[in-house]
Amino acid sequence: MTNVPELFGSKVFNQKAMKDRLPKETFKALKKTLDDGAPLQLDVANVVAHAMKEWAIENGATHFAHWFQPLTGVTAEKHDSFINPQEDGTVIMTFSGKELVKGEPDASSFPSGGHRATFEARGYTVWDPTSYPFIKEHTLCIPTAFCSYTGEALDKKTPLLRSMEAINEQALRVLRLFGKTNVTHVSTTVGSEQEYFIVDHDLWAQRKDLRMTGRTLFGAKPSKGQEMDDQYFAALNPRIVKYMEDLNETLWKYGIPSKTEHNEVAPAQHEMAPIFSTTNLAVDQNQLTMEVMKKVAKRHGLECLLHEKPFAGMNGSGKHNNWSISTNDGENLLEPGKTPESNAQFLLFLTAILKAVDENQDLLRISVASAGNDHRLGANEAPPAIISVYLGDELYKVLDAIYADKPYDSNKLEKMAIGVDVLPPIPKDSTDRNRTSPFAFTGNKFEFRSCGSALSIAGPNTALNSIVAYSLKEFADELEKASDFESALNALISREVKAHWRIVFNGNGYDDAWKAEAHRRGLLELKTTPDAVAHYLDEKNVRLYTEMGVYTKEEMEAHYETKLEKYAQVLNIEVQVMLEMVSKDILPACYKYISAVSKTVADLKAVVPGAKAQAEIALLTKLDGLVDSLAAKAEELCSKHLAAKACGDVMAVARAYVDSVIPVMAETRALADEIEPLLGDEFKPFPCYEDLVFRV
Ligand code: ADP
Ligand code: MG
Repeated sequence: MTNVPELFGSKVFNQKAMKDRLPKETFKALKKTLDDGAPLQLDVANVVAHAMKEWAIENGATHFAHWFQPLTGVTAEKHDSFINPQEDGTVIMTFSGKELVKGEPDASSFPSGGHRATFEARGYTVWDPTSYPFIKEHTLCIPTAFCSYTGEALDKKTPLLRSMEAINEQALRVLRLFGKTNVTHVSTTVGSEQEYFIVDHDLWAQRKDLRMTGRTLFGAKPSKGQEMDDQYFAALNPRIVKYMEDLNETLWKYGIPSKTEHNEVAPAQHEMAPIFSTTNLAVDQNQLTMEVMKKVAKRHGLECLLHEKPFAGMNGSGKHNNWSISTNDGENLLEPGKTPESNAQFLLFLTAILKAVDENQDLLRISVASAGNDHRLGANEAPPAIISVYLGDELYKVLDAIYADKPYDSNKLEKMAIGVDVLPPIPKDSTDRNRTSPFAFTGNKFEFRSCGSALSIAGPNTALNSIVAYSLKEFADELEKASDFESALNALISREVKAHWRIVFNGNGYDDAWKAEAHRRGLLELKTTPDAVAHYLDEKNVRLYTEMGVYTKEEMEAHYETKLEKYAQVLNIEVQVMLEMVSKDILPACYKYISAVSKTVADLKAVVPGAKAQAEIALLTKLDGLVDSLAAKAEELCSKHLAAKACGDVMAVARAYVDSVIPVMAETRALADEIEPLLGDEFKPFPCYEDLVFRV
C-alpha cells in the first residue's frame, strides 16, 4: 500500500518545504508575496532559489526550467542545468534568485498573433510564486508568466492573474458595502472534472488520424456503442485500474489532489476530478494533469485521448469547470448562507453573475471555442452552443419571485435587517442532475460545462473572472453612491434580475424546443469557432477587458488572430491526413479486396463452369461504385481545401473551412464508412471503432 500522505506533494516545493528550508525571515517575506501579492525582493529570491535548488537536487533534479503557458494552449519549458564550471575543471551546482525570477526563452516561435510584427520578438518569463515549483523527471519546473519586452502578455497565465486581481478588487468593494472590512482578499476557486478516453497503444499507432489529429476521421459505427448505458460508473477493467492507480500516484506526487475517478458514458471513456483550489493553481494543475495522463498511459501500453470528439457517434469529452468565489477567511460567496443578511449578499453576487453571463454570452462561448469543441457543443451530449444559466428548483423559485414581484413564500417571509424583503433562508438544492445546461448553479458554485476536454481552462476562467468583475464594478459604483444602501440594493437586485431573466433556463438544453425558445429570447447561438470569434473584438468586449485591466486591445487583436489561425491549422492538418488515409490506406485496401474477390470469381468459374457468383459480383459492383465516388470526393475535398487556404485573411480562411470544406469532409467520411463494413476483416486498412473502444 502506498503511503499517500507521505507521497502527496513530495515533488513540489510547497509551503511546507519552504517553511522547512527557508530562514524564518525569508519565509515571512515570501509568504507576504504569496498571500498579498507583494513584490519579491532580489535578496529574498536569492535565498529562496538556493533552498529550492538544494531541495531539487536532493530529489534528483539536475536542471531547471521556466514552465509557461503560451497561446498554443499547451505548456512549454526550456531546460537549463544547474552546472556552473569552475576554473579547476570541475562544476558546482548553482541557481540564483535572478534565474528563479526571470528567464528569457526565444519567443519568436510561439504564436503571438501579430505581436511579433508590432512588438519585439523576444519575451521573458517571470516566476509566479502563487503556483508552486515542482520536479518533473530531472527538471525543477518553475511556473511562470510569459510576456514580451514591452509587457504584452504572450501567454494564458498573465491575463488569468490579471482577471483574478480584477475580481478581487471589485468583490472587495462590494463586501465593504456589507460591512465586511476584515476581508483582505477575494479569489475565485476552480475544480475541473477532466474527461478522457483510453485506447490500446498498438491499435492507436496504426491509425494516422489518431496519431496526427487526436481524433478518428473515419470509422463506421460499431454494432455496439454506448446505447446499453452499461459503461457509466461501471466496474473498471483491470488494465484501467492499474492505469488509474499509477495516474493518481503520479498526480499526488505533484500535489494534485486527484479525488474522483470513474467510467464515463462512452466505452473507453473515463473521468478524473481533483479537489478544487485557487483558480491559478487549478489551471496549472489541470495543464500538468493532462500531460501526466498522456505520459502515464504510454507507460501502460495505452494512449490517452484528450480530444473533444475522438469518435463520431459516441459521446465526446468535456471538462466541467466548477467555479466559485471565496474570501481569504474562507467564506464561499456563492453559498446561500443561513441568515437573511448573508443571503442578500449572496443574491447580489448571484445577480452579478446572471448579468455577466447574459451580457457576455459571446465571451463565454469564445472562451471555449476550438475546432475540436465545435464537434461537441450542441451534439446532444454536451450543452448547446447557446449559453444559459440553470439555477436549480429552489433558487429558481426565489428569483422567479423577485422577477414577478411576488413574495417567495409568504409563510416563511422574513423582514430582513437590511431591508431586502424577499429572502428567507435559501435551501441548498441537492437535486441538480441537469447535465444539459452550459452554466449550472450546483449548490455553492457554478459549473461551466461547455469547456472542451483538451482546452486550457485558463481562457474560460479569465473570461468568467473578468465578466463577473465588470458586473460587480457596475454594482459597486451604483451602491457606493446610494444614500440608502438597503433600498438601493433592493432596487438593484430586482431591476437586474428582471433585466437578465432571459438567460435563466431550467429545462432540457438538448431539446430542440429550447433552441427555438432561445432564439425568441434573443440569446446568441454561435455554432462554430469563426461564428463566435467574429464577436471577440466587438466594442463591448474590448471595453470590458481593457477596463478590467485583463487584456489590452493589442493583446485582444493578437488573440483574435491566433484563435482563428489555430482553427485553420487544425483543419488544414485534418484535411491532409484525411486525403492521405484515403489514398494510402483506404483505397489500396479496397483494391486488394476487389482483387481477391475477383480472383475468387475467376477461380470459381474455372472449377464450376456454370457458377454465377452473383453475391461476389454484386459486392464487386457495389465496391467499384463506392471506390469511384470516394476517389472523386477526395479530389473535390482537395480542391475545396486549396481554395479555402487561398481565401486571404484569417477570418475568411476559417469561414471557408466551415462553409465549404467541413461539409465535404463529412461526405468523404460517409463514403469511406460505407465501404468499411464491406471489406473482409483481414483487409481492413486500420483498426476499427470496435477494436479501439472495446479492446483495451
Ligand atoms: P459533481 O456532482 O459535479 O460530481 P462534486 O461535488 O463532486 O460535483 O464536485 C465537482 C468538482 O467541483 C470537484 O472538483 C470539486 O472539488 C469542485 N468544487 C467543489 N466546491 C467548489 C468550490 N467552492 N469552488 C470550486 N470548485 C468546487
Ligand atoms: Mg460535475
